[in-house]
Amino acid sequence: MLIVMEPNATEAQIQRVADFIESKGFDAHISKGEIQTVIGAVGGKTIDSRDIELIDGVLKIIKISSSYKLASRVFKPQNTVIKIKDVSIGGEELAMIAGPCTIESYEQMELTASELQKSGVKLIRGGAFKPRTSPYSFQGLGEEGLKIIREVADKYGMLVVSEVMEISQIPMFLEYADILQVGARNMQNFNLLKELGYTNKPVIIKRGLSAMIEEWIMSAEYVMAGGNRDVILCERGIRTFETATRNTLDISAIPVVKKLSHLPIIVDPSHGTGLRDKVAPMSRAAVAAGADGLILEVHYEPDKALCDGAQSLYPNQYADLVKDLKIIAPVVGKKI
Ligand code: PEP
Ligand code: MN
Repeated sequence: MLIVMEPNATEAQIQRVADFIESKGFDAHISKGEIQTVIGAVGGKTIDSRDIELIDGVLKIIKISSSYKLASRVFKPQNTVIKIKDVSIGGEELAMIAGPCTIESYEQMELTASELQKSGVKLIRGGAFKPRTSPYSFQGLGEEGLKIIREVADKYGMLVVSEVMEISQIPMFLEYADILQVGARNMQNFNLLKELGYTNKPVIIKRGLSAMIEEWIMSAEYVMAGGNRDVILCERGIRTFETATRNTLDISAIPVVKKLSHLPIIVDPSHGTGLRDKVAPMSRAAVAAGADGLILEVHYEPDKALCDGAQSLYPNQYADLVKDLKIIAPVVGKKI
């Protein structure tokens, strides 16, 4: 951290800042310029920068090191590649996760999976516990839903991705799912993140509705600090003033995260746009921007979907998208 003093800061004020940061376990490196003095705080653990900002004579604070370590590319320069059976996420192969928003019935999952298998899908998604905005909306089939998605996935040799909403559900998810998803609304449920850190299954962390990239990576750090290093970040759109789409898909988050972190980043253009006709263009853009994969809502008959039908692709639209991605992926060193 660098502390920039006011041009007219006195010697006593400079010394007060130096004494304060030293009292917190940092070394103070004072650099006096002709007009301004800058103090470098080096080596300590944590400090609340506001405490320094409030000292008389301080102009501003410039943070240099990030608050996350394990998730940082400085800590681990090479990309993390997560392997689960015959699938890897974060490597050359794009991770394509597809399936309905919600598990509705065995028939719905079976019909959807049989279509997706024709397009080479190896990771099937489907929510059993749904974080719905209204308590009166369909909340998911619960454990019964997890049993269905597991059975259908096994039939087609696929892996299961599903959202875990609370700590008490973790043992159930470890039994039925291969990848545990943390939803946007739970991105800062630190108790849930901590517990997921003690599991040995990969965790997808969706970006919170209004989360800054740093906060999102800090959520990954929570899981990693518990010992589970298999974390995948998922950009799913953020809240902005724009109302033409359900959320604003932040494509720029992809290169930003790639620079800051070694973790894989995937993109969810279904929740990111909320509209089926926007999903393919945003999927193509995400892959072109360097995403490691996509998570897409696909339903065998979207018009009958109990949840998010308007943003779910028809199976033939998914198949067409895969054809486009086969052309785009090699440009960014990926394949599908
Ligand atoms: C979902 O993927 O089903 C979901 C609810 O997504 P999000 O948490 O991004 O809203
Ligand atoms: Mn959905």
